[in-house]
Amino acid sequence: MKGRIFVISGPSGAGKSTLIRGVRERIVEIGYSVSHTTRRSRVGERDGKDYFFVDKDKFREMINNNAFVEWAQVYGDYYGTSYGALTDKLNAGQDIILDIDIQGAKNIKEKIDDSILIFILPPSREMLEQRLKERATDSAEALTKRIALAATELINCRWYDYLIINDDLEKATKALEAVILADRCSKTRILSDVEARLFL
Ligand code: ADP
Ligand code: 5GP
Repeated sequence: MKGRIFVISGPSGAGKSTLIRGVRERIVEIGYSVSHTTRRSRVGERDGKDYFFVDKDKFREMINNNAFVEWAQVYGDYYGTSYGALTDKLNAGQDIILDIDIQGAKNIKEKIDDSILIFILPPSREMLEQRLKERATDSAEALTKRIALAATELINCRWYDYLIINDDLEKATKALEAVILADRCSKTRILSDVEARLFL
């Protein structure tokens, strides 16, 4: 059986990385697509684990070599999902989480129609800004850019399959886990396997 893609999007500071980290501790066999980016690494981020950190020349070369399933410019930097991050795992039947922006989500959905789109929302605009400031990983300029773009990004939650409000962290992590586990029982996904198994 082919693996499923779970796309996670939301404005910067919504809690995407935190929730993905939490759900990966609970569903240990789920894969994660490590993106390439031209953004500089933050303190604590590891090359090859959080991102593959590359310069613009390398990123352009990868675009020219058709190495990306999708790529986009987000907050002034380039980000992309490589075929290498996806193909083998999916073909081996592994589910994969992608943390990508709304442009990337649209492109993935166009190419892989059965992908599940999940949008992470903050409990309020004020809380989003507060969490982003308290995270203290971005320069003042980057912070302003990210806050300014949040409203436009939030509107796009309308075309996602699932909306998770990240108020209480435990509840939100559970909700994300539930979406993934429920999908694994969905008829569209497992009926043919059930039929083969039980000779129906
Ligand atoms: P994103 O990946 O969407 O940009 P992060 O996962 O980095 O967001 O979360 C932004 C900040 O908010 C981090 O400092 C994180 O620890 C904090 N955070 C995330 N979820 C919650 C929550 N439910 N309650 C309080 N703080 C949270
Ligand atoms: P950050 O710099 O906070 O890690 O990520 C910034 C934004 O880029 C987030 O919205 C994140 O989801 C998005 N992003 C990360 N990797 C990719 C990718 O491979 N493709 C696209 N389109 N967006 C990505």
